[in-house]
Amino acid sequence: MTSPNSPTFDNSYVKQAERFYSPQEPATVATPKLVRINTVLAEELGIDPQWLASPEGIATMAGNHMPDGAEPIATVYAGHQFGGWNPQLGDGRAVLLGELIAKNGTRYDWQLKGSGRTPYSRGGDGKSPLGPVLREYILCEAMATLNVPTTRALGAVTTGELVFRDQALPGAVFSRVAQSHIRVGTMQYFAARQDTEALQSLSNYLIDRHFPDAAKASNPVLTMLNDIISRQATLIAKWQSIGFIHGVMNTDNMLLCGETIDYGPCAFMENYDPATVFSSIDHNGRYAYGNQPGIAHWNLAQLAQALLAILDNAPDATEESAIALAQQALDAFPELFLKAYQAIIKDKLGLSSFSEQDDPLFQDLLTLMEQEKADFTLCFRRLAELADEGACINNSVHELFEFNGNFTPWLQQWRQRLIEDTQTPAQRQAQMFKANPVFIPRNHLVQEAIVAAERNSDFSAFNQLVDVLKTPHTFDPNKQRYALPAKPNERVLQTFCGT
Ligand code: AMP
Ligand code: MG
Repeated sequence: MTSPNSPTFDNSYVKQAERFYSPQEPATVATPKLVRINTVLAEELGIDPQWLASPEGIATMAGNHMPDGAEPIATVYAGHQFGGWNPQLGDGRAVLLGELIAKNGTRYDWQLKGSGRTPYSRGGDGKSPLGPVLREYILCEAMATLNVPTTRALGAVTTGELVFRDQALPGAVFSRVAQSHIRVGTMQYFAARQDTEALQSLSNYLIDRHFPDAAKASNPVLTMLNDIISRQATLIAKWQSIGFIHGVMNTDNMLLCGETIDYGPCAFMENYDPATVFSSIDHNGRYAYGNQPGIAHWNLAQLAQALLAILDNAPDATEESAIALAQQALDAFPELFLKAYQAIIKDKLGLSSFSEQDDPLFQDLLTLMEQEKADFTLCFRRLAELADEGACINNSVHELFEFNGNFTPWLQQWRQRLIEDTQTPAQRQAQMFKANPVFIPRNHLVQEAIVAAERNSDFSAFNQLVDVLKTPHTFDPNKQRYALPAKPNERVLQTFCGT
Protein backbone atom coordinates (compact mmCIF):
# COMPACT_ATOMS: atom_id res chain seq x y z
CA MET A 1 0.00 0.00 0.00
CA THR A 2 1.31 3.40 -0.97
CA SER A 3 0.31 6.44 1.05
CA PRO A 4 -1.56 9.25 -0.73
CA ASN A 5 1.32 11.72 -0.46
CA SER A 6 3.85 9.54 -2.27
CA PRO A 7 5.13 11.13 -5.51
CA THR A 8 3.54 10.81 -8.91
CA PHE A 9 5.67 9.03 -11.49
CA ASP A 10 5.48 9.65 -15.22
CA ASN A 11 7.70 7.08 -16.91
CA SER A 12 8.74 7.56 -20.52
CA TYR A 13 11.93 5.50 -20.92
CA VAL A 14 10.14 2.20 -20.18
CA LYS A 15 7.85 2.98 -23.10
CA GLN A 16 10.86 2.86 -25.44
CA ALA A 17 11.97 -0.35 -27.14
CA GLU A 18 12.42 -3.30 -24.79
CA ARG A 19 16.03 -3.68 -25.83
CA PHE A 20 16.87 -0.35 -24.11
CA TYR A 21 16.63 -1.88 -20.63
CA SER A 22 15.70 -4.83 -18.42
CA PRO A 23 12.89 -4.65 -15.88
CA GLN A 24 14.60 -4.98 -12.51
CA GLU A 25 13.30 -4.77 -8.97
CA PRO A 26 15.84 -3.46 -6.47
CA ALA A 27 17.03 -5.91 -3.81
CA THR A 28 15.40 -5.63 -0.41
CA VAL A 29 17.74 -4.82 2.47
CA ALA A 30 17.82 -5.69 6.18
CA THR A 31 17.25 -2.50 8.14
CA PRO A 32 17.13 0.77 6.20
CA LYS A 33 18.04 3.88 8.12
CA LEU A 34 17.96 7.44 6.90
CA VAL A 35 21.24 9.28 6.48
CA ARG A 36 19.95 12.48 4.95
CA ILE A 37 17.34 13.81 2.56
CA ASN A 38 17.62 16.83 0.32
CA THR A 39 14.52 18.78 1.30
CA VAL A 40 14.95 21.57 -1.24
CA LEU A 41 15.43 19.20 -4.15
CA ALA A 42 12.54 17.00 -3.00
CA GLU A 43 10.25 20.03 -3.05
CA GLU A 44 11.45 21.07 -6.50
CA LEU A 45 10.62 17.57 -7.71
CA GLY A 46 7.16 17.68 -6.17
CA ILE A 47 8.11 15.06 -3.56
CA ASP A 48 6.72 15.73 -0.08
CA PRO A 49 9.87 15.86 2.12
CA GLN A 50 7.86 14.51 5.05
CA TRP A 51 6.91 11.50 2.99
CA LEU A 52 10.53 11.04 1.88
CA ALA A 53 11.73 11.03 5.50
CA SER A 54 8.88 8.75 6.62
CA PRO A 55 9.29 4.97 6.96
CA GLU A 56 7.69 4.57 3.52
CA GLY A 57 10.03 7.11 1.91
CA ILE A 58 13.05 5.53 3.56
CA ALA A 59 11.91 2.08 2.44
CA THR A 60 11.57 3.45 -1.09
CA MET A 61 15.10 4.87 -1.05
CA ALA A 62 16.38 1.53 0.24
CA GLY A 63 14.58 -0.49 -2.44
CA ASN A 64 12.26 -2.20 0.08
CA HIS A 65 9.10 -0.49 -1.12
CA MET A 66 7.90 0.31 -4.62
CA PRO A 67 5.53 3.28 -4.63
CA ASP A 68 2.59 3.09 -7.03
CA GLY A 69 3.70 4.20 -10.48
CA ALA A 70 7.35 3.19 -10.10
CA GLU A 71 8.50 0.86 -12.91
CA PRO A 72 12.06 -0.10 -11.96
CA ILE A 73 14.50 -0.90 -14.76
CA ALA A 74 18.22 -1.30 -15.35
CA THR A 75 19.33 0.44 -18.55
CA VAL A 76 21.81 -0.98 -21.01
CA TYR A 77 24.83 0.79 -22.47
CA ALA A 78 28.38 0.18 -23.66
CA GLY A 79 31.45 2.36 -23.41
CA HIS A 80 35.11 3.09 -23.79
CA GLN A 81 36.77 2.59 -20.40
CA PHE A 82 40.22 4.19 -20.27
CA GLY A 83 40.20 4.10 -24.06
CA GLY A 84 39.37 0.38 -24.30
CA TRP A 85 36.08 -0.67 -25.87
CA ASN A 86 33.58 -2.57 -23.74
CA PRO A 87 30.56 -3.62 -25.87
CA GLN A 88 28.28 -4.39 -22.94
CA LEU A 89 27.98 -2.46 -19.71
CA GLY A 90 24.71 -1.20 -18.22
CA ASP A 91 23.34 -0.37 -14.80
CA GLY A 92 25.14 -3.05 -12.82
CA ARG A 93 24.43 -1.60 -9.41
CA ALA A 94 21.60 0.82 -10.03
CA VAL A 95 17.94 0.81 -10.96
CA LEU A 96 15.89 3.61 -12.41
CA LEU A 97 12.78 3.78 -10.23
CA GLY A 98 10.94 6.05 -12.60
CA GLU A 99 10.59 9.65 -13.74
CA LEU A 100 9.10 12.69 -12.05
CA ILE A 101 8.03 15.98 -13.55
CA ALA A 102 9.48 18.79 -11.44
CA LYS A 103 7.64 22.00 -10.60
CA ASN A 104 9.59 23.77 -13.36
CA GLY A 105 8.22 21.25 -15.88
CA THR A 106 11.52 19.39 -16.37
CA ARG A 107 11.46 15.61 -16.37
CA TYR A 108 13.90 13.90 -13.96
CA ASP A 109 15.04 10.32 -13.37
CA TRP A 110 15.07 8.95 -9.84
CA GLN A 111 17.65 6.23 -9.64
CA LEU A 112 18.72 4.03 -6.75
CA LYS A 113 22.46 3.33 -6.77
CA GLY A 114 23.76 0.34 -4.81
CA SER A 115 20.42 -1.47 -5.02
CA GLY A 116 21.59 -4.96 -5.89
CA ARG A 117 22.41 -7.14 -8.87
CA THR A 118 20.98 -6.65 -12.35
CA PRO A 119 21.52 -8.48 -15.66
CA TYR A 120 24.44 -6.06 -16.21
CA SER A 121 26.27 -6.69 -12.95
CA ARG A 122 28.86 -9.01 -14.52
CA GLY A 123 30.93 -10.20 -11.53
CA GLY A 124 29.79 -7.43 -9.18
CA ASP A 125 27.43 -7.59 -6.23
CA GLY A 126 25.40 -4.56 -7.28
CA LYS A 127 25.92 -3.02 -3.85
CA SER A 128 27.58 0.14 -2.63
CA PRO A 129 29.54 0.73 0.53
CA LEU A 130 28.58 3.78 2.59
CA GLY A 131 31.79 5.72 1.75
CA PRO A 132 31.14 6.22 -1.99
CA VAL A 133 27.51 7.13 -1.23
CA LEU A 134 28.57 9.91 1.14
CA ARG A 135 31.27 11.04 -1.28
CA GLU A 136 28.78 11.32 -4.13
CA TYR A 137 26.29 13.15 -1.91
CA ILE A 138 28.88 15.74 -0.81
CA LEU A 139 30.47 16.22 -4.21
CA CYS A 140 27.39 16.46 -6.41
CA GLU A 141 25.61 18.86 -4.08
CA ALA A 142 28.75 21.02 -3.89
CA MET A 143 28.92 21.07 -7.68
CA ALA A 144 25.26 22.10 -7.87
CA THR A 145 25.82 25.10 -5.60
CA LEU A 146 28.94 25.95 -7.60
CA ASN A 147 26.64 26.27 -10.58
CA VAL A 148 27.94 23.22 -12.44
CA PRO A 149 25.36 21.08 -14.27
CA THR A 150 25.23 17.83 -12.32
CA THR A 151 23.20 14.87 -11.21
CA ARG A 152 21.85 15.48 -7.71
CA ALA A 153 21.50 13.80 -4.35
CA LEU A 154 17.89 13.30 -3.29
CA GLY A 155 18.82 11.22 -0.28
CA ALA A 156 20.88 8.43 1.18
CA VAL A 157 20.10 5.48 3.44
CA THR A 158 22.17 2.80 5.13
CA THR A 159 21.04 -0.79 4.65
CA GLY A 160 22.03 -2.44 7.92
CA GLU A 161 24.01 -4.92 5.80
CA LEU A 162 27.71 -5.34 5.20
CA VAL A 163 29.29 -4.97 1.78
CA PHE A 164 32.49 -6.92 1.20
CA ARG A 165 35.39 -5.24 -0.56
CA ASP A 166 38.95 -5.61 0.74
CA GLN A 167 37.19 -5.37 4.10
CA ALA A 168 33.60 -5.53 5.36
CA LEU A 169 31.98 -2.11 5.09
CA PRO A 170 28.53 -0.75 5.98
CA GLY A 171 26.22 -0.78 2.96
CA ALA A 172 24.17 2.14 1.67
CA VAL A 173 21.91 3.17 -1.20
CA PHE A 174 22.09 6.54 -2.90
CA SER A 175 19.07 8.24 -4.47
CA ARG A 176 20.36 9.98 -7.56
CA VAL A 177 18.41 12.45 -9.65
CA ALA A 178 19.38 13.31 -13.23
CA GLN A 179 17.74 15.02 -16.17
CA SER A 180 18.28 11.61 -17.74
CA HIS A 181 20.82 8.80 -17.54
CA ILE A 182 21.37 8.45 -21.31
CA ARG A 183 25.09 8.36 -22.03
CA VAL A 184 27.50 8.51 -24.94
CA GLY A 185 27.80 4.79 -24.20
CA THR A 186 24.06 4.27 -24.73
CA MET A 187 24.37 5.42 -28.35
CA GLN A 188 27.56 3.39 -28.72
CA TYR A 189 25.75 0.24 -27.58
CA PHE A 190 23.26 0.42 -30.44
CA ALA A 191 25.77 1.67 -33.02
CA ALA A 192 28.03 -1.30 -32.28
CA ARG A 193 25.08 -3.61 -33.02
CA GLN A 194 24.30 -1.68 -36.22
CA ASP A 195 20.82 -1.15 -34.82
CA THR A 196 19.98 1.97 -36.79
CA GLU A 197 16.33 1.82 -35.80
CA ALA A 198 17.28 2.00 -32.11
CA LEU A 199 19.72 4.84 -32.78
CA GLN A 200 17.00 6.80 -34.54
CA SER A 201 14.35 6.22 -31.90
CA LEU A 202 16.77 6.97 -29.05
CA SER A 203 17.73 10.21 -30.82
CA ASN A 204 14.08 11.14 -31.26
CA TYR A 205 13.55 10.48 -27.57
CA LEU A 206 16.56 12.60 -26.58
CA ILE A 207 15.53 15.46 -28.83
CA ASP A 208 12.05 15.40 -27.38
CA ARG A 209 13.36 15.29 -23.79
CA HIS A 210 16.41 17.57 -23.91
CA PHE A 211 16.78 19.36 -27.23
CA PRO A 212 13.29 20.49 -28.30
CA ASP A 213 14.72 23.18 -30.60
CA ALA A 214 16.52 20.51 -32.61
CA ALA A 215 13.15 19.02 -33.56
CA LYS A 216 12.44 22.12 -35.65
CA ALA A 217 15.82 22.10 -37.42
CA SER A 218 16.32 20.78 -40.94
CA ASN A 219 18.69 18.14 -39.55
CA PRO A 220 17.52 17.35 -35.98
CA VAL A 221 20.20 14.73 -35.19
CA LEU A 222 23.04 17.00 -36.31
CA THR A 223 21.56 19.88 -34.34
CA MET A 224 21.33 17.64 -31.28
CA LEU A 225 24.97 16.62 -31.72
CA ASN A 226 25.99 20.28 -31.96
CA ASP A 227 24.02 21.02 -28.77
CA ILE A 228 25.59 18.11 -26.92
CA ILE A 229 29.06 19.29 -27.99
CA SER A 230 28.30 22.80 -26.86
CA ARG A 231 26.94 21.65 -23.47
CA GLN A 232 30.04 19.53 -22.87
CA ALA A 233 32.30 22.46 -23.75
CA THR A 234 30.55 24.59 -21.14
CA LEU A 235 30.57 21.79 -18.59
CA ILE A 236 34.29 21.05 -18.88
CA ALA A 237 35.08 24.79 -18.78
CA LYS A 238 33.26 24.93 -15.44
CA TRP A 239 35.16 21.90 -14.13
CA GLN A 240 38.48 23.46 -15.11
CA SER A 241 37.58 26.78 -13.53
CA ILE A 242 37.13 25.27 -10.06
CA GLY A 243 39.81 22.58 -10.20
CA PHE A 244 37.41 19.63 -10.39
CA ILE A 245 38.97 16.38 -11.57
CA HIS A 246 36.38 13.81 -12.61
CA GLY A 247 38.80 10.92 -12.59
CA VAL A 248 36.91 8.43 -14.76
CA MET A 249 35.76 10.17 -17.93
CA ASN A 250 34.83 6.96 -19.72
CA THR A 251 32.21 7.33 -22.46
CA ASP A 252 29.68 5.53 -20.26
CA ASN A 253 30.18 8.29 -17.68
CA MET A 254 29.30 11.17 -20.01
CA LEU A 255 25.61 12.10 -20.01
CA LEU A 256 24.08 13.46 -23.21
CA CYS A 257 21.96 15.93 -21.20
CA GLY A 258 25.21 17.63 -20.18
CA GLU A 259 25.21 16.93 -16.45
CA THR A 260 28.27 15.72 -14.54
CA ILE A 261 27.78 12.09 -13.53
CA ASP A 262 29.58 9.35 -11.64
CA TYR A 263 31.34 10.80 -8.65
CA GLY A 264 33.66 7.86 -8.11
CA PRO A 265 37.32 8.76 -7.78
CA CYS A 266 36.74 12.46 -8.44
CA ALA A 267 38.50 15.10 -6.37
CA PHE A 268 39.29 18.80 -6.27
CA MET A 269 42.83 19.88 -7.02
CA GLU A 270 44.54 21.80 -4.21
CA ASN A 271 47.93 23.10 -5.38
CA TYR A 272 47.74 23.95 -9.05
CA ASP A 273 49.32 21.33 -11.30
CA PRO A 274 47.79 20.28 -14.64
CA ALA A 275 49.18 16.75 -14.22
CA THR A 276 47.18 16.16 -11.04
CA VAL A 277 45.57 12.71 -10.84
CA PHE A 278 43.91 11.17 -7.79
CA SER A 279 42.24 8.03 -9.10
CA SER A 280 44.02 4.86 -7.99
CA ILE A 281 43.25 3.16 -11.31
CA ASP A 282 44.36 6.01 -13.60
CA HIS A 283 47.95 4.78 -13.90
CA ASN A 284 48.84 6.76 -17.02
CA GLY A 285 47.16 9.98 -16.05
CA ARG A 286 44.69 9.72 -18.93
CA TYR A 287 42.13 11.67 -16.91
CA ALA A 288 44.52 14.19 -15.31
CA TYR A 289 43.15 17.69 -14.69
CA GLY A 290 44.87 19.19 -17.73
CA ASN A 291 43.68 16.41 -20.06
CA GLN A 292 39.96 16.82 -19.37
CA PRO A 293 39.10 19.10 -22.33
CA GLY A 294 40.95 16.81 -24.74
CA ILE A 295 39.28 13.72 -23.32
CA ALA A 296 35.84 15.30 -23.59
CA HIS A 297 36.61 16.01 -27.25
CA TRP A 298 37.68 12.38 -27.73
CA ASN A 299 34.48 11.12 -26.09
CA LEU A 300 32.39 13.37 -28.31
CA ALA A 301 34.19 11.93 -31.33
CA GLN A 302 33.01 8.47 -30.18
CA LEU A 303 29.48 9.86 -29.98
CA ALA A 304 29.66 11.38 -33.46
CA GLN A 305 31.00 8.07 -34.76
CA ALA A 306 28.09 6.23 -33.14
CA LEU A 307 25.60 8.61 -34.78
CA LEU A 308 27.09 8.35 -38.30
CA ALA A 309 24.37 6.08 -39.67
CA ILE A 310 21.68 8.69 -38.92
CA LEU A 311 23.68 11.91 -39.05
CA ASP A 312 23.06 12.99 -42.65
CA ASN A 313 19.37 13.11 -43.50
CA ALA A 314 19.84 14.51 -47.02
CA PRO A 315 18.37 12.35 -49.82
CA ASP A 316 21.83 11.91 -51.38
CA ALA A 317 23.58 11.16 -48.07
CA THR A 318 26.63 8.91 -48.15
CA GLU A 319 29.01 7.70 -45.49
CA GLU A 320 31.48 10.37 -46.61
CA SER A 321 28.92 13.15 -46.31
CA ALA A 322 27.99 11.95 -42.79
CA ILE A 323 31.66 11.87 -41.79
CA ALA A 324 32.10 15.40 -43.09
CA LEU A 325 29.17 16.60 -40.95
CA ALA A 326 30.54 14.80 -37.89
CA GLN A 327 34.00 16.26 -38.42
CA GLN A 328 32.65 19.76 -38.77
CA ALA A 329 30.62 19.41 -35.58
CA LEU A 330 33.62 18.05 -33.66
CA ASP A 331 36.00 20.70 -34.97
CA ALA A 332 33.91 23.32 -33.19
CA PHE A 333 34.69 21.88 -29.75
CA PRO A 334 38.10 23.47 -29.00
CA GLU A 335 36.82 26.95 -29.79
CA LEU A 336 33.55 26.41 -27.88
CA PHE A 337 35.54 25.21 -24.88
CA LEU A 338 37.96 28.13 -25.07
CA LYS A 339 35.15 30.69 -25.32
CA ALA A 340 33.31 29.17 -22.35
CA TYR A 341 36.52 28.91 -20.33
CA GLN A 342 37.65 32.45 -21.08
CA ALA A 343 34.24 33.79 -20.10
CA ILE A 344 34.79 32.30 -16.64
CA ILE A 345 38.46 33.34 -16.44
CA LYS A 346 37.34 36.89 -17.17
CA ASP A 347 35.18 36.70 -14.03
CA LYS A 348 37.90 35.01 -12.00
CA LEU A 349 40.29 37.84 -12.85
CA GLY A 350 37.68 40.58 -12.37
CA LEU A 351 37.64 41.86 -15.96
CA SER A 352 34.64 43.12 -17.89
CA SER A 353 35.97 41.60 -21.09
CA PHE A 354 38.66 39.08 -21.99
CA SER A 355 40.76 39.71 -25.09
CA GLU A 356 43.70 37.98 -26.72
CA GLN A 357 46.12 40.16 -24.75
CA ASP A 358 44.65 38.93 -21.46
CA ASP A 359 45.58 35.34 -22.13
CA PRO A 360 49.31 35.78 -21.38
CA LEU A 361 48.36 37.49 -18.11
CA PHE A 362 46.29 34.46 -17.16
CA GLN A 363 48.89 31.94 -18.33
CA ASP A 364 51.57 33.74 -16.30
CA LEU A 365 49.42 33.42 -13.20
CA LEU A 366 49.02 29.68 -13.78
CA THR A 367 52.77 29.30 -14.27
CA LEU A 368 53.42 31.12 -11.01
CA MET A 369 50.80 29.09 -9.18
CA GLU A 370 52.39 25.88 -10.39
CA GLN A 371 55.88 27.05 -9.50
CA GLU A 372 54.84 28.26 -6.03
CA LYS A 373 52.56 25.24 -5.42
CA ALA A 374 49.78 27.70 -4.66
CA ASP A 375 46.36 26.42 -3.64
CA PHE A 376 44.20 26.97 -6.73
CA THR A 377 41.04 27.88 -4.80
CA LEU A 378 42.58 30.15 -2.17
CA CYS A 379 44.84 31.90 -4.67
CA PHE A 380 41.87 33.08 -6.74
CA ARG A 381 39.89 33.85 -3.62
CA ARG A 382 42.66 36.03 -2.22
CA LEU A 383 42.90 37.76 -5.58
CA ALA A 384 39.21 38.59 -5.31
CA GLU A 385 39.84 40.11 -1.89
CA LEU A 386 42.62 42.28 -3.31
CA ALA A 387 40.12 43.75 -5.78
CA ASP A 388 38.64 45.72 -2.87
CA GLU A 389 40.73 44.92 0.15
CA GLY A 390 39.16 47.31 2.61
CA ALA A 391 35.80 45.61 2.17
CA CYS A 392 36.88 42.28 3.65
CA ILE A 393 39.28 43.04 6.49
CA ASN A 394 37.21 41.10 9.02
CA ASN A 395 36.47 38.12 6.85
CA SER A 396 39.61 37.64 4.81
CA VAL A 397 41.46 34.46 3.91
CA HIS A 398 44.83 36.23 4.14
CA GLU A 399 45.83 34.08 7.13
CA LEU A 400 45.17 30.99 5.02
CA PHE A 401 46.82 32.22 1.86
CA GLU A 402 48.92 35.23 0.98
CA PHE A 403 50.75 35.98 -2.25
CA ASN A 404 54.49 35.72 -1.70
CA GLY A 405 57.03 38.11 -3.21
CA ASN A 406 57.33 36.07 -6.41
CA PHE A 407 53.79 37.12 -7.31
CA THR A 408 54.50 40.86 -6.87
CA PRO A 409 55.37 41.69 -10.51
CA TRP A 410 52.33 39.73 -11.69
CA LEU A 411 50.03 41.51 -9.23
CA GLN A 412 51.36 44.84 -10.54
CA GLN A 413 50.53 43.81 -14.10
CA TRP A 414 47.07 42.72 -13.03
CA ARG A 415 46.42 46.04 -11.26
CA GLN A 416 47.68 47.86 -14.34
CA ARG A 417 45.21 45.91 -16.46
CA LEU A 418 42.37 46.79 -14.06
CA ILE A 419 43.00 50.50 -14.57
CA GLU A 420 41.75 50.12 -18.17
CA ASP A 421 38.59 48.48 -16.86
CA THR A 422 35.60 50.62 -16.00
CA GLN A 423 34.13 48.63 -13.09
CA THR A 424 34.26 49.97 -9.55
CA PRO A 425 36.30 47.90 -7.05
CA ALA A 426 33.07 46.80 -5.34
CA GLN A 427 31.53 45.63 -8.62
CA ARG A 428 34.72 43.85 -9.53
CA GLN A 429 34.92 42.10 -6.19
CA ALA A 430 31.31 40.95 -6.39
CA GLN A 431 32.03 39.52 -9.85
CA MET A 432 35.18 37.77 -8.59
CA PHE A 433 33.62 36.36 -5.41
CA LYS A 434 30.94 34.71 -7.53
CA ALA A 435 33.55 33.02 -9.71
CA ASN A 436 36.07 32.25 -6.98
CA PRO A 437 34.53 30.06 -4.27
CA VAL A 438 36.22 29.74 -0.91
CA PHE A 439 34.68 26.44 0.21
CA ILE A 440 35.16 23.38 -1.97
CA PRO A 441 34.87 19.71 -0.95
CA ARG A 442 38.51 19.19 -0.11
CA ASN A 443 39.60 15.56 -0.16
CA HIS A 444 40.70 15.35 3.45
CA LEU A 445 37.37 16.78 4.64
CA VAL A 446 35.42 14.31 2.54
CA GLN A 447 37.64 11.54 3.89
CA GLU A 448 37.16 12.69 7.48
CA ALA A 449 33.37 12.67 7.04
CA ILE A 450 33.43 9.18 5.53
CA VAL A 451 35.70 7.69 8.20
CA ALA A 452 33.56 9.01 11.08
CA ALA A 453 30.42 7.60 9.46
CA GLU A 454 31.97 4.25 8.57
CA ARG A 455 33.68 3.58 11.89
CA ASN A 456 31.30 5.13 14.41
CA SER A 457 28.05 5.72 12.51
CA ASP A 458 28.72 9.36 13.29
CA PHE A 459 27.26 11.52 10.53
CA SER A 460 27.92 14.90 12.13
CA ALA A 461 31.06 15.64 10.07
CA PHE A 462 29.20 14.62 6.89
CA ASN A 463 26.20 16.80 7.70
CA GLN A 464 28.35 19.78 8.65
CA LEU A 465 30.37 19.53 5.47
CA VAL A 466 27.25 19.33 3.29
CA ASP A 467 25.90 22.38 5.13
CA VAL A 468 29.11 24.45 4.83
CA LEU A 469 29.25 23.73 1.10
CA LYS A 470 25.78 25.23 0.63
CA THR A 471 27.33 28.71 0.70
CA PRO A 472 30.64 28.22 -1.11
CA HIS A 473 31.12 31.86 -2.06
CA THR A 474 30.78 33.47 1.36
CA PHE A 475 33.74 33.29 3.71
CA ASP A 476 33.09 33.00 7.44
CA PRO A 477 36.19 32.97 9.67
CA ASN A 478 34.36 30.58 12.03
CA LYS A 479 34.44 28.02 9.24
CA GLN A 480 38.14 28.53 8.57
CA ARG A 481 39.07 24.86 8.81
CA TYR A 482 36.82 24.07 5.85
CA ALA A 483 38.75 26.53 3.68
CA LEU A 484 42.22 25.26 4.55
CA PRO A 485 44.17 22.95 2.27
CA ALA A 486 45.20 19.61 3.76
CA LYS A 487 48.24 19.65 6.03
CA PRO A 488 50.95 17.24 4.88
CA ASN A 489 49.72 14.51 7.26
CA GLU A 490 46.10 14.99 6.13
CA ARG A 491 46.71 14.80 2.41
CA VAL A 492 44.66 12.26 0.49
CA LEU A 493 46.84 11.17 -2.39
CA GLN A 494 44.54 8.61 -3.96
CA THR A 495 40.82 8.19 -4.45
CA PHE A 496 38.96 5.01 -5.33
CA CYS A 497 35.98 4.10 -7.49
CA GLY A 498 34.40 2.33 -4.56
CA THR A 499 32.84 -0.29 -6.80
P1 AMP B 1 31.65 3.01 -13.07
O1 AMP B 1 33.13 2.86 -12.98
O2 AMP B 1 31.02 3.39 -11.78
O3 AMP B 1 31.22 3.90 -14.17
O4 AMP B 1 31.09 1.56 -13.39
C1 AMP B 1 31.37 0.88 -14.59
C2 AMP B 1 30.44 -0.30 -14.76
O5 AMP B 1 30.63 -1.25 -13.72
C3 AMP B 1 28.97 0.05 -14.75
O6 AMP B 1 28.33 -0.77 -15.69
C4 AMP B 1 28.56 -0.30 -13.35
O7 AMP B 1 27.18 -0.58 -13.25
C5 AMP B 1 29.40 -1.53 -13.07
N1 AMP B 1 29.63 -1.72 -11.63
C6 AMP B 1 30.39 -0.97 -10.83
N2 AMP B 1 30.38 -1.44 -9.55
C7 AMP B 1 29.57 -2.51 -9.54
C8 AMP B 1 29.13 -3.44 -8.54
N3 AMP B 1 29.52 -3.35 -7.27
N4 AMP B 1 28.31 -4.42 -8.92
C9 AMP B 1 27.91 -4.53 -10.20
N5 AMP B 1 28.27 -3.71 -11.19
C10 AMP B 1 29.10 -2.71 -10.88
MG1 MG C 1 29.45 4.76 -14.49
